Amino acid sequence: MLNIGIIGYGGMGSYHHRELIKKEDGVQVVGAYDIKKERLDAAKNAGLTIYESLSDLLSDKTIDAVLIATPNDVHKELAIQAMTSGKHVVCEKPAMMSTKELDDAIKVSNETGQVFMVHQNRRWDNDFLIIQDMYQKKPIGELFQIESRVHGANGIPGDWRHLEKHGGGMLLDWGVHLLDQLLFMVDSPVKEVSADLSYILGDEVDDGFIAYITFENGIKALVEVGTTNFVKLPRWYVKGLEGTAIIDDWDLSGKIVKQTGVIDHHNLVPIKAGQGLTKTMSPPSEDATKILPIVGVEADYDGFYRNFYDVVVNNATPIVKNDEVRNVLALIERIFEVAK
Ligand code: NAD
Repeated sequence: MLNIGIIGYGGMGSYHHRELIKKEDGVQVVGAYDIKKERLDAAKNAGLTIYESLSDLLSDKTIDAVLIATPNDVHKELAIQAMTSGKHVVCEKPAMMSTKELDDAIKVSNETGQVFMVHQNRRWDNDFLIIQDMYQKKPIGELFQIESRVHGANGIPGDWRHLEKHGGGMLLDWGVHLLDQLLFMVDSPVKEVSADLSYILGDEVDDGFIAYITFENGIKALVEVGTTNFVKLPRWYVKGLEGTAIIDDWDLSGKIVKQTGVIDHHNLVPIKAGQGLTKTMSPPSEDATKILPIVGVEADYDGFYRNFYDVVVNNATPIVKNDEVRNVLALIERIFEVAK
């Protein structure tokens, strides 16, 4: 049994990870440390051992591993201190503020032999798994255009996410998820990047962004996060050589339209469009397309901590690999750079 101490008993630490860890036999949460007294009280009320200082937690020999669920700017120092104290680490995303910080942490992981694994949980999102399945099995042919968006209208939530020194902003917050999904799916290096960050709300950090990414294999992707969008665009819009798919939201509503026959370019029936007529934009005839259902894909997200246990105890391969995490952080750095 791996005993886990939580560092940062906030939203993710106190609820999401506690629930996830409960589902696995080989791991259990036994204690917590937080800089805020009210969060320590919450941990105590939840039946955990609480530690008044980080060194108290890290010197407790009964703790095998820590979960780091603090604001982003302290992930690095906490991870390095934990590993040099003989603890394995699960770290929330974004792993670090830069590739330089991540390299420092990976170096310590290699030197100490302590596992450092990042919680990139959205690799198990059903909407993503459906698009990934489409990318691999090609029901609408090779995908050549991938648009991945999340839109909200509530601005930047909470407190530290508004501040640069804590690693706030939407590129580091939601961007890291969408870019991780994209790089995990597309089996080709990134070739070109252009991007625009938005500061509509007047914060010192970005409240959203649009990035255009071209891969060496020719695939083009658009990744967008918006927090001032009162009307949402679809979560996914993808085009293949034989069709188009749309997934509206996390409820997996949407449709896949596959081209099944040859479109007769000479006998298109024009439609009235506004004050004109168009053949170009008239819908393809019914016998030229068919609608396919969106088929769900099994997700084994509960297996995240099972894998962590196996990595620590049985030297298994981590599901989330540090070089993948590094590639995503490198892309984020590139987006910040080109958007300047
Ligand atoms: P939060 O503000 O709710 O909680 C953070 C907690 O860390 C607070 O209780 C705070 O007091 C504590 N803290 C701050 N500095 C500390 C320190 N030096 N030592 C110990 N405790 C400290 O934030 P949150 O929403 O839970 O986010 C925490 C982390 O989880 C962030 O890295 C965030 O990006 C990540 N996150 C991931 C997901 C996901 O889906 N994977 C979702 C939300 C947040």
